[in-house]
Amino acid sequence: QPASASPAIPDLPGVRPAVQAVPAYPFTPIDAPIKLDQNESAYDFPAELKALAADRMVGQLWNRYPDLHAEGLRARVAAFEDWDEAGVVITPGSNVLIKILTELGGIGQTVLTVRPTFSVYTLEAQLLGANLVEVPLNTDFSLPVEGLKAALRANPPGVLYITQPHAPTGFLDAEAAVREVVEAADGWVVVLDEAYHQYSGTDYRDLVRAGENRLSLRTFSKAWGLAGVRLGYALSSPRLAAHLRKLVSAFNVGVLAQVALEVALEHPGYVAERAAEVRRERERVYAALQGHPVWTALPSQANFYLLRTPDADAAYRHLRSCGIVVRRQDKLPMLGGCLRVAVGSPAENDAFIEAARAFR
Ligand code: PMP
Repeated sequence: QPASASPAIPDLPGVRPAVQAVPAYPFTPIDAPIKLDQNESAYDFPAELKALAADRMVGQLWNRYPDLHAEGLRARVAAFEDWDEAGVVITPGSNVLIKILTELGGIGQTVLTVRPTFSVYTLEAQLLGANLVEVPLNTDFSLPVEGLKAALRANPPGVLYITQPHAPTGFLDAEAAVREVVEAADGWVVVLDEAYHQYSGTDYRDLVRAGENRLSLRTFSKAWGLAGVRLGYALSSPRLAAHLRKLVSAFNVGVLAQVALEVALEHPGYVAERAAEVRRERERVYAALQGHPVWTALPSQANFYLLRTPDADAAYRHLRSCGIVVRRQDKLPMLGGCLRVAVGSPAENDAFIEAARAFR
């Protein structure tokens, strides 16, 4: 599995050059008994909640469109997050919000992020033809505060992405560093991507609330175990949310997804329990890999971690031979030799530890 295995697509008249220039999303689905390659929850949505949701789905009208912007669901998410309902935007996955946030800035506007970063920020910027600016992370993976502040001054404003904990490193910055960058970004739309915040125990809602141009990007795909249902959301000022809503296509959250989330929000207790288990398991795997002759697990505050190896290809193939699929990251800047491994269930993590011990 090469890191960027996307075949070139022949040009087609009518397709914008920026779109033609971008390779397809570099992901190859791989079937393996132990799937640690997509930072998902190792646990499915609880069976009893699925049954509740299924019953409720039967009671829905499937021939009618859902509400325009998932208004009913918005109120429930707002109550859960203690947020103004008018500042909530819900979409089928937070990737959709990244697309519309890029469109908000538009062609020629700046998309400012770090390098390496979550690939969808850069992909959407390239697809749109935005001015993509990536500032290298510090060597310890912390935010390049001075570099970002310089880039904020040097470029026409647009959208700034900060990911906490960061992906793909799992690094969590000091709050003061995040605050300093966010406060330097007047005139920019500032996105705090908190996709993995349940695993770090951090929460930037207060910082986001303090500026009309700030937004917390969240997802139900990770700690909530609902990646297959496709739901993400943004918390922002009502003003920013109102502009974003113009860019979201109408009726974009279907009734079935809405019902599943309604049930989840009525029984959210499992989320914190599982996040705590993931944190315990993450530290267990990390401890078990200490002293490994050639592999190093890098500390992480997310539900995944980087594994630094002398030969990513050999490590990847060894894990595959043990029935484990992980994600290669070794072609990314600063991540030579790195694989990204999700924290699995305890049994999956045992299998991973055993596979690691068997590698020489
Ligand atoms: N942000 C980050 C940092 C992510 O890692 C992901 C998932 N890979 C997303 C956003 C998007 O998640 P989703 O579209 O499933 O909500």
